Amino acid sequence: VERTFSIVKPNAVAKNAIGAIYARFESAGFTLVAAKMVQLTREQAEGFYAEHQGKPFFDGLVGFMTSGPIMVQVLEGENAIQRNRDIMGATNPANALAGTLRADYADSFTENAVHGSDSPESAAREIAYFFSAEEIC
Ligand code: ATP
Ligand code: MG
Repeated sequence: VERTFSIVKPNAVAKNAIGAIYARFESAGFTLVAAKMVQLTREQAEGFYAEHQGKPFFDGLVGFMTSGPIMVQVLEGENAIQRNRDIMGATNPANALAGTLRADYADSFTENAVHGSDSPESAAREIAYFFSAEEIC
């Protein structure tokens, strides 16, 4: 089994969609093995998205991700990284297939409702960025 890191972004938390999104994860066969609500500082958001520093959308992304609480979670399951990205849909919600989380909960390219790790390396980095070993069950 594989683990992936996931975020319910501030726009989805603000529209009371945490439960609906967690239900999608569980219906897809994932097990939640860690979860918490956090309010990111500017420094934490910049560090999390360090790979995007200097891109035109970076400041807007950091401003959005610090605009309200988020849910961070670790999903466990077979092929979890790719399957979570399939459930999320395309990064740009204009291209997200019907039935995906971004088709249903995104408000814009930046405010696209959810994050999911894109590789085993980023999953390991992102899980460790938010969770200590004792917090993962
Ligand atoms: P995520 O990392 O959130 O799971 P992703 O891997 O599909 O999504 P990235 O390229 O890593 O997308 O971009 C990270 C986030 O930055 C996106 O989810 C989106 O919120 C924002 N973003 C990326 N590209 C753009 C863009 N061209 N315009 C506006 N926002 C963008
Ligand atoms: Mg990404």
